Amino acid sequence: MVIAKTLGILGGGQLGRMSAMAAAQLGIKTHIFCPETGCPASLVTSYFTQAEYNDHKALKAFAQNVDVITYEFENIPLETIEFLEELKPVYPGRNLLEVSQNRLKEKSFLNDIGIKTAPWAPCHAPEDIAKTLKEWQADACIIKTARFGYDGKGQIFHKLKDNIYQSWEKLKTEEAVIEGIIDFDLEISVVIARDLMGQSSAYVAVQNEHKNHILDRTIAPAPVSNEVLSTASDMAHHLAEAIDLVGVLALELFVTKDGTLIANEIAPRPHNSGHWTIDACHTSQFENHVRAVCGLPVGSTVAHSDAEMINLIGDDVHDLGAYLEMEKAHIHLYGKAEVRPGRKMGHVTILK
Ligand code: AMP
Repeated sequence: MVIAKTLGILGGGQLGRMSAMAAAQLGIKTHIFCPETGCPASLVTSYFTQAEYNDHKALKAFAQNVDVITYEFENIPLETIEFLEELKPVYPGRNLLEVSQNRLKEKSFLNDIGIKTAPWAPCHAPEDIAKTLKEWQADACIIKTARFGYDGKGQIFHKLKDNIYQSWEKLKTEEAVIEGIIDFDLEISVVIARDLMGQSSAYVAVQNEHKNHILDRTIAPAPVSNEVLSTASDMAHHLAEAIDLVGVLALELFVTKDGTLIANEIAPRPHNSGHWTIDACHTSQFENHVRAVCGLPVGSTVAHSDAEMINLIGDDVHDLGAYLEMEKAHIHLYGKAEVRPGRKMGHVTILK
């Protein structure tokens, strides 16, 4: 088994930072490549390159310095990955990135492998909105830009009486997906790790609560039946196999009142809803991601504690007092210099 000695990570946010910290624990160095200086991951890495993702000279030098490359967010240009994979292995593979960068491809792929999604239709012009609502005999829908949407950005709620041209204008895109509205009971996600030997292991499904479209709280395990937990895990395993995952991905699901699971989104990387695994599981999502992409087998995803993870958003980071006094609270701050409303500054995991 060849184990990578230096891991290259595209992107310098908190996911890259926590991956770099997990790599360090395994004696693996990291090289962060990010367009901004002072980013969270740059503060905990052996090597750092500040350059744009289309800077071939910088990408080449980065590739020469590492054994394997991964990415910590899904909006890395595909062209960057194509360039890098000629030079060094890149995990997870391009197919997963391609699928998760475009909601139309994502939904097609999920449906093709038998995973249910909300009803959906492609949208390339305002008339598609009226046509789809008529076809579905629905009085409302959600329209999401096909690309670059996150934390509720790039999506609108459209009612039958709303003006289709205004709705389309608001999205500022040429390609979108129209989705039927799911009357869900709760939102859950499953994080799964799969290694180069094809072994996969999933963390227990967790419940996610959002505030202003941003993840606020994760509860592990999700308060659903064992049957739902096991179906969610089976779905994640099926997806990981089908896409030949190497690394970690998260599958976000809606749970309806009757316990049906409907897939919403795939994140091709460690996920905010998996942060609790650092403190409550034998192997964290970050360690498993590093293990998988560096050629090591994935470790146990079993939780030794139930947990609650609370995101510290914006000014929350100035109010740590209660957590500092709590015996089972584990505080993680990302080292971001500037506090901004809606910005993820850190998180706290409280073991139960
Ligand atoms: P997304 O950007 O796809 O993760 O959506 C952000 C949030 O919008 C989700 O976490 C849900 O709370 C809500 N949402 C998204 N799609 C749907 C849908 N088809 N039906 C109902 N709620 C949705």
